[in-house]
Amino acid sequence: MKRTSISIFGATGSVGKTALKIIRENKDKFKVNVLTSNTNVEKLVDLANEFNPFAVAIADESKIKILKEETASNDLIYFAGQGGIIEAASINSDITIAAIVGLAGLKPILESVKHGGNLCIANKESIVAAGEIIYRECEKYGTRIIPLDSEHNAIFQILEGNKDLEIRKIYLTASGGPFYNFSKEDLRKVRPEDAVKNPNWSMGRKISVDSATLMNKGLEIIEAKHLFKTDDDQIKVLIHRQSIAHGIVAFNNNALIGSFGKPDMIYPVRYALFWPNGQLEQREDIDINILNDLSFIEIDENNFIALKLARESVKRGNIYPIILNASNEVAVRSFLEERISFLDILVVVQESIEYVSKSIQIRSNHKMKVKDIFEVDNEARIKTDEIIEMRH
Ligand code: NAD
Ligand code: MG
Repeated sequence: MKRTSISIFGATGSVGKTALKIIRENKDKFKVNVLTSNTNVEKLVDLANEFNPFAVAIADESKIKILKEETASNDLIYFAGQGGIIEAASINSDITIAAIVGLAGLKPILESVKHGGNLCIANKESIVAAGEIIYRECEKYGTRIIPLDSEHNAIFQILEGNKDLEIRKIYLTASGGPFYNFSKEDLRKVRPEDAVKNPNWSMGRKISVDSATLMNKGLEIIEAKHLFKTDDDQIKVLIHRQSIAHGIVAFNNNALIGSFGKPDMIYPVRYALFWPNGQLEQREDIDINILNDLSFIEIDENNFIALKLARESVKRGNIYPIILNASNEVAVRSFLEERISFLDILVVVQESIEYVSKSIQIRSNHKMKVKDIFEVDNEARIKTDEIIEMRH
């Protein structure tokens, strides 16, 4: 039987690792085509030597020599630099996994869409900033999108089984992050090493900080709007501390259908890689007790700055989600580099949105092009850096 070929963009990250675990356990079904990394050459070398891909790409060009020297295969194809990652995306694969963090993942996504296969997408920042363009391109080239983000994957599964029903509301569950009950005084003392630990999920550093500020859920509202083509008012956030319910959909026939499971990315990623067939082997016992004591709290989004900013951005559309994402990426990086405090993150994002939206004028009915997205993104990054510099 022909094996399914898979390209993984962001192979050395948390989502990449999960995907490779599934591939490792199913070597008879999957083969690795492309693996990419930003700077982590050691890990990329190990993965290349283990999975024997067709091509590898590293964004940090200074590492290409080590990559070449330490990979065992003679016929491996190498790419380097941000351009190299995009070139690697032009290699046809049955499945592309978009697991780069940040808008850095957008160009490889748009390139891979042109070359067929399913697009399994975790890279929410690209959907937030360029969801419409990604969908437009996918339609043009007949590419199918399968969400990997756990909530969106759960909702995708629910919708697949209920195609004839009309969606009334989509509920995104939020763990609330590690600091949900912290006072402002406690939040003031939060350090990067505290923020990168999530009580329920093991994830990369940026998304862990986003979970702690709740911006992750804000971005996910915008992500859901694009993925499920609903009005943003239909997307609601529920605080659900246990992270067992991943998505709930209310339909027009009053059915409330939820998807439950242990908080582990292995399930959504496995679902996506085996889609549409499901995976019949490797049945695991389901512990029904995980459903005990679940709680769901409908919140007033106005009390959570991140949700408020994301909600306003999605309502205004146009350049706003791009600015929201760019300023958040910059602010989170600055926090991780200890240039700003945890509480500064959202203050900086808010200031940046106000400032940049006044300085950039794009007609509200303008159909955004990729070039426009990067222009706005770049402007927002520069301004956010300036705002951070002034606070410093
Ligand atoms: P991570 O930091 O663990 O990994 C990021 C990957 O992207 C690494 O392989 C890194 O080398 C690569 N990368 C980073 N910057 C790059 C650049 N400029 N050019 C090329 N490659 C670059 O992140 P993660 O937690 O795996 O998250 C990846 C994406 O998936 C994010 O958008 C995140 O929001 C989303 N996501 C992650 C999880 C999770 O459980 N980790 C869950 C849902 C969604
Ligand atoms: Mg999520």
